[in-house]
Amino acid sequence: MALPFFASGTVVHGFGRGSKELGVPTANLADEVVDNLPDQLTCGVYCGFASVNHGTVYPMCLSIGWNPYYKNEKRTMETHIMHSFDKDFYGEILKIVIVEYIRPMLDFKSLEELKLAISSDIRISTEKLLEEKCAEFSKHKFSVHLS
Ligand code: ADP
Ligand code: MG
Repeated sequence: MALPFFASGTVVHGFGRGSKELGVPTANLADEVVDNLPDQLTCGVYCGFASVNHGTVYPMCLSIGWNPYYKNEKRTMETHIMHSFDKDFYGEILKIVIVEYIRPMLDFKSLEELKLAISSDIRISTEKLLEEKCAEFSKHKFSVHLS
């Protein structure tokens, strides 16, 4: 797999399917970023780091895919940043580095199952990203690749 993978682009509106209502907003990256993803980056959940408008670098959890639960017809890259922002950042620049693969996309039978999976993804991502081999990407490598 082509990891780590660095990308940056504009935050666009998603499908308004209520990620925020689940308590987990996901910043969707513009189509041109999604279209330039290497084929090796298969659909699934990944963890890494992100920054908005060249600001602070935070841990993030990302999904790439056709989300089966919502029967998406379009590929998406959705980043949940583990930080509480004061306001939305649509239209701003999101830089990410995808560091590790977590799991494949799954077809959840209920919203409850989906919610449990999301909180587990966030917990696993947060833990993994503290490991030095991951954490290094939040530092110099992040700014070097994405200045
Ligand atoms: P949409 O369907 O438009 O993507 P969401 O409910 O997924 O709507 O909310 C995503 C938006 O929430 C992002 O585009 C961003 O502007 C905002 N946002 C606020 N806090 C966060 C966060 N911690 N991580 C990701 N996006 C966030
Ligand atoms: Mg979203």
